[in-house]
Amino acid sequence: MSSDHVPSKLRSAELGPSEHGTSELGAAGLAATDFACPGCGTAGMRIFHEARSVPTNNCILLPTRQEARAYPRGDIVLGFCGECGFITNTTFEPEKTEYSGRCEETQGFSPTFSALHRELARNLVEQYDLRGKKILEIGCGNGEFLLLLCEEGANHGIGYDPAYVPDRATGSAADRVKFVTDFYSEKYASEQADFVCCKMTLEHIHPTAEFVGMVRRAIGDSPQTTVFFQVPDTVRILRDCAFEDVYYEHCSYFSPCSLGRVFRDSGFALIGMETAYDGQYLTIAARPDTSAGARDGSPDADQAEAWKREVRELTELVEAYAAKYAERVAWWRDKLTATTKAGQKAVIWGSGSKGVAFLSSLGMEDAVSYAVDINPHRHGSFMPGCGVEIVSPEFLREYRPDLVIIMNAIYRQEIGNDLQNLGLDPEIVAV
Ligand SMILES: [Zn+2]
Repeated sequence: MSSDHVPSKLRSAELGPSEHGTSELGAAGLAATDFACPGCGTAGMRIFHEARSVPTNNCILLPTRQEARAYPRGDIVLGFCGECGFITNTTFEPEKTEYSGRCEETQGFSPTFSALHRELARNLVEQYDLRGKKILEIGCGNGEFLLLLCEEGANHGIGYDPAYVPDRATGSAADRVKFVTDFYSEKYASEQADFVCCKMTLEHIHPTAEFVGMVRRAIGDSPQTTVFFQVPDTVRILRDCAFEDVYYEHCSYFSPCSLGRVFRDSGFALIGMETAYDGQYLTIAARPDTSAGARDGSPDADQAEAWKREVRELTELVEAYAAKYAERVAWWRDKLTATTKAGQKAVIWGSGSKGVAFLSSLGMEDAVSYAVDINPHRHGSFMPGCGVEIVSPEFLREYRPDLVIIMNAIYRQEIGNDLQNLGLDPEIVAV
């Protein structure tokens, strides 16, 4: 293994003009394209980052290392809209992603995550007086959050997800919640609800304005219906260069300005926007705007000025991303190379999307021997792309790693305790 080898897939902002129909370079030296922004429709998204040949599904489980390494790949070529601040993978091919029962992405086995999840459900029940109401969730996964919302407020629920696994719904609200194993669409417009929730789903959808517009049409003009969406906060990803949060299924990257604007332009009145989950997520709450002129897409002057300022700040972060990315990837490659040279053993903790994105970005499949996960449904399977085997925390008792790399710093305390309980004291580094 060579420490100075940087695979071509790590190239960032190095696109030649011929590769993407580029006609000119933007003011900041970013390659301008004729690609139109899926958020606001403005043409001329500028390319600032690419990751070639990455797995097209990060949470899929494969039965053998061979199949895992042969898993289909696609390209990430991120374009930035200088008008609304939206970021998208300009080469995204939705048919390459798979949302099925083969996906195993719940974080519900983590006490930290479960506590945060329940806290969010309680807050929403309080804030929007969700008691005895009808809740609809788009992209509900296995229904964990919908069941919490229905438990906390004695609500009824309906959840839509093509990857829903039927036998997982448990808890006191299970008999009040119905699941539909399908993508949510306008054909379900007859299912009206008081509260429409969509967590960690919009970032998987490429035609964002089209999708938000579809939701707006499907829920109708009832001014009482509240919609609540949660997405990763791209400001944090850019600022901290959280490259483990950039992966194929996440084709859409929102900041407050682009998220607010796509909802406003789709006929919603915004009622709240916050960051959550230690700054990793961005949430928006909105209601149908039925006032005259609501759909002309023009925000009030103060709002327009605030969004413009945010887009300027984002532009600076986008322009700085390539250098930060190169620096962070180099740091991790050096770290893992040094570990291997010293005859030490490294594992990652967290075999889901972040783990796959992290290892794909480094291109060092053999530097990490195992990926630990507390989700028992993942044990014994292999991660797509890198082909690293997923093991239980218990496995480490015998294996005794020297370095544990945590894929999400929010779990540092929990993982530290788990390692201590296993009688282990490795070096712990969070990405
Ligand atoms: Zn835009």
